[in-house]
Amino acid sequence: KASVLAGDNYEDEMHAKPYQDSTGKSALDMLQEERKSLPIYSYRDELLKAVKDHQVLIIVGETGSGKTTQIPQYLHEAGYTKHGKVGCTQPRRVAAMSVSARVAQEMGVKLGHEVGYSIRFEDCTSEKTILKYMTDGMLLRELLGEPDLSSYSVIIVDEAHERTLHTDILFGLVKDIARARPDLKLLISSATMDAQKFSEFFDQAPIFMFPGRRYPVDICYTTAPEADYMDAAITAVLQIHVGEPLGDVLVFLPGQEEIETMEENLKQRIRGFGTKISELIICPIYGNLPSELQAKIFEPTPEGARKVVLATNIAETSLTIDGIKYVVDPGFSKLKSYNPRTGMESLLVTPISKASATQRTGRAGRTSPGKCFRLYTAYNYHNDLEENTMPEIQRTNLASVVLALKSLGINNLLNFDFMDPPPSEALIKALELLFALGALNQLGELTKVGRRMAEFPLDPMLSKMIVVSDKYKCSDEIISIAAMLSIGPSIFYRPKDKKVHADNAMMNFHVGNVGDHIALLKIYTSWKETNYSTQWCCENYIQVRSMKRARDIRDQLEGLLERVEIEISSNSNDLDSIRKCIVAGFFPHTAKLQKNGSYRTVKHPQTVHIHPASGLSQVLPRWVVYHELVLTSKEYMRQVTELKPEWLIEIAPHYYQLKDVEDAKSKNMPKTSGRAAM
Ligand code: ADP
Ligand code: MG
Repeated sequence: KASVLAGDNYEDEMHAKPYQDSTGKSALDMLQEERKSLPIYSYRDELLKAVKDHQVLIIVGETGSGKTTQIPQYLHEAGYTKHGKVGCTQPRRVAAMSVSARVAQEMGVKLGHEVGYSIRFEDCTSEKTILKYMTDGMLLRELLGEPDLSSYSVIIVDEAHERTLHTDILFGLVKDIARARPDLKLLISSATMDAQKFSEFFDQAPIFMFPGRRYPVDICYTTAPEADYMDAAITAVLQIHVGEPLGDVLVFLPGQEEIETMEENLKQRIRGFGTKISELIICPIYGNLPSELQAKIFEPTPEGARKVVLATNIAETSLTIDGIKYVVDPGFSKLKSYNPRTGMESLLVTPISKASATQRTGRAGRTSPGKCFRLYTAYNYHNDLEENTMPEIQRTNLASVVLALKSLGINNLLNFDFMDPPPSEALIKALELLFALGALNQLGELTKVGRRMAEFPLDPMLSKMIVVSDKYKCSDEIISIAAMLSIGPSIFYRPKDKKVHADNAMMNFHVGNVGDHIALLKIYTSWKETNYSTQWCCENYIQVRSMKRARDIRDQLEGLLERVEIEISSNSNDLDSIRKCIVAGFFPHTAKLQKNGSYRTVKHPQTVHIHPASGLSQVLPRWVVYHELVLTSKEYMRQVTELKPEWLIEIAPHYYQLKDVEDAKSKNMPKTSGRAAM
């Protein structure tokens, strides 16, 4: 296989493309040649001249033409890193990691030295770093500490067409900074052709558009709508594999779950063919995929085999995979939607936009002519799909960015320079929530609590839970819980043949029906007591990788506690204090049991259910507080803990009144008539 790169670069080798060294060229020489073959290379000098002549530049070029990997290097070569860093934002973590690894390799340096990346809870940079890739959310956080971005000479807002919430907020902020700092260069880079809008927003900034290489792609539609897009996608892959000339396949699926299901099912179907068909290599890629597996999608396909990449939207424009000849597009992606009336947010599998469909199709024609199989009808495409995906800022909870903007001193949000403003109800809802959490005062100004909360790179409700733990003297436990909640739902694994064992192991942590938050705490503490043993994880069917991540996050939260001057205090015997902290952060997320076993949320009544994976799903306590809602077949509450209704009055008297928590069957609740309780 690949020759081993020498010495210091050894670690980077896992990211390297294997290469044949028949010509005697070094790996670095070969990479330099590859760089020169990218479409952007012919425009290098023109681009640098445009950057020199203009402070703000909009750059538009085909996906895979070299924008993300090359422009920062060109700027470095042209001397822009002499007096500051080049920062390049990415909407996705995986893209920031993968692209920086590639650039480090091209420059022959170790990742984290001259080239690095920074994503939430993971900073892979050093004092040496001059090219810094980071998520858009991280640049926003950096602004809190460095409001004029003085350590940067160039900021590239990349993948601008994605219009993520953080990118949209950055637009307004960097536009303002650029006015105050004439020495700062600002590049807005985008894959699609809606550059006019960017140009107008940035005071008519010039557009630098360069052509990419693009081969024709045949588009095939289905003749009738598909009942099950997952089935249809498997069939399409198999048909390609059996009936079409060699060439890799890219399948777009909504999320990790769908990718894992399809991987499983596809493997099973392939086994049925035995050795009658050529090898099919299946590579998943999604946001939470462990980094050591991410590099696999870039490995060249062996002779005679076919690679099929199962990807989320990340492969639409963020990552370019060479050698794709066939695209299978079921036409869906997972999109956040937000109801400002109820304040509820959910991830929904939603039909994609025409712009997305066009991008997906394009992925089949980067290195040769290709084919795109759209698993929907032509009628569907022309009549049902929206032109563009709605920007995230118009369909999300704004509490976290409003808190960030307030801490940047931006008080009048209605005057903020939005490219597309969010619905005013959503802004008001965010302000209301922050007020309820005590982060803002009646004038809408940041309070001391709010200032502390803003230090944590977490959702404001989680931050509040942490800040309040000072008062209840259990910050030690609370940051463990916050860290465990931040790693997402993938803590346990359930091997097919050992489901019963796995479930028993899980139930061990739920003994006494302590609730999911306390169970998470028990998992963390037990692991810590074994001195972070891998074997303990295996015995308990717990993902070691997730736990290590939780430990990293916890370490960082501990550091932040120090910054906001909260002492580490432990009170592990007093579970009610821990529960009260949870309620103090999450009191807007409470629900009450109904006669039929479902729940009603207290403030904006809606029917919800306890998630089957919760330790309380059979217990059904009368009152619960939940971490989040997920919509699958039903609206489920995930991570649930029991609470006493009187706590709501004690902790959030400005939010709940006695009538909200009045409980006819509960004897320990006072009657509403008296006002004394307030
Ligand atoms: P753009 O930003 O214009 O979409 P990129 O700069 O991301 O283009 O990609 C340019 C080239 O670099 C592509 O051919 C892509 O395959 C390659 N590339 C990018 N990241 C990696 C990686 N991690 N490993 C291997 N090749 C990569
Ligand atoms: Mg790019």
